Amino acid sequence: MHEMSLCENLIAVIEAEAARQNFGRVSKIWLEVGPFSGAEPEALRFCFDAVSRGTLAEQADFEIIGTPGTAYCMACAESVEIGERYDPCPRCGSHMLQITGGTELRIRELEVA
Ligand SMILES: [Zn+2]
Repeated sequence: MHEMSLCENLIAVIEAEAARQNFGRVSKIWLEVGPFSGAEPEALRFCFDAVSRGTLAEQADFEIIGTPGTAYCMACAESVEIGERYDPCPRCGSHMLQITGGTELRIRELEVA
């Protein structure tokens, strides 16, 4: 499963942070997930649970923050919000969009214990 390796990466990031900032336990994780990140929030939650076992993030609360999908429309010369990666511009219907946001999958904040 794709989300499994994503979660393994997250744990690696958290462990690196723990070593850098000198904390031993994480009680809560806020994760930003964009609609174009390719990750399913429910699958992430499930995988994180499995992957975090035996690590410093075991039993941490896992909060997923959905971020908006944004794109730059070349026809409108403006930023617009879209729900799906291949959606047309909601203003003019153009497909000349460049995705500018919504691909993120990153840790926004950690609460350490
Ligand atoms: Zn447009």
